[in-house]
Amino acid sequence: MKKFGIAVDIGATNIRVALGDRKGTLIKKIKRKTAQKGNELTLANQIIDMILELINENNLKDIKGIGIGSIGPLDIKKGWIVNTPNLGIKNSNIVKPLRNFFNIPVYLLNDCVAAVWGEKHFGAGRKYKNIVYITISTGIGGGVIVDDHLLLGKDGNAHEVGHIVIDYKSKLRCGCGRIGHWEGYASGINIPNFIMYYLKKKKVKNIPWVKGLTSEEFFGLVKKGDKFAREVLKELSKIYAAGIASVINVYDPELLTLGGSVFLNNYELLFPPIKRYLRLYLLNRKPRIIKTPLGGDIVLYGGLALVFSPPPGLARIYSENYN
Ligand SMILES: [Zn+2]
Repeated sequence: MKKFGIAVDIGATNIRVALGDRKGTLIKKIKRKTAQKGNELTLANQIIDMILELINENNLKDIKGIGIGSIGPLDIKKGWIVNTPNLGIKNSNIVKPLRNFFNIPVYLLNDCVAAVWGEKHFGAGRKYKNIVYITISTGIGGGVIVDDHLLLGKDGNAHEVGHIVIDYKSKLRCGCGRIGHWEGYASGINIPNFIMYYLKKKKVKNIPWVKGLTSEEFFGLVKKGDKFAREVLKELSKIYAAGIASVINVYDPELLTLGGSVFLNNYELLFPPIKRYLRLYLLNRKPRIIKTPLGGDIVLYGGLALVFSPPPGLARIYSENYN
């Protein structure tokens, strides 16, 4: 029996590759800056080089497959990243070049979708059939399992929860170009825009620190007890609660886990008020809500889970399109 698997996490800034086993142990990990220039094969070649760096080519016979969680959007039938707004290279052919090179199964899913599959197999979700994972990071994204079934959608981009509309009359524009989206208010990259928007709406003047502020600096000010920063945090917590409650109202999970750098780095500041405000918006019975135990490696665990327990829906798509 082939004992090992390769997990890949393609992010806007970094690509991470890990060697792991079927029990979900990440044995060895490496990280490189994501190439921002090149053609449709550049990323695949970068990943091939990283895998070769991680394993001795002679050991390939022990590798069962490659599981990839990637920033999107994706076309999972083709195995491509397509028209991504967050990378220098807009379109990348991922699955085929890797399959041709290594001659083992290769699975590609949206990073949050892979992550929730990792949560189910190696994290807090083992005994649950209904699980949602939400990441609050540079963007906001989610992965959903309903009745043990991993939701994929026509292109593999189901449950783009970051683009839930939280204010239909908003003037605040999301990175995707539309208005009033949850991510446009509250993802790491957009918190500074929200602060400016909030200032304007409340006609607040004389806040010296807002210009050029990053979300890390904002959370630093909250920690220091800045009065206005605390007011903004309260408002942001309601926004997170509204988004999370909408997800719970739609998918009715038993377990909801939260991760992503913005959430994980500011857990003590964010989690108590988010939980408090949930009741304002929640219709469905409240699930168990926790910080993911898989931390910043959740997408890599997802990649491993794809290799050793490929979701039936994905396996079917692949057998239809790759044989
Ligand atoms: Zn959007």
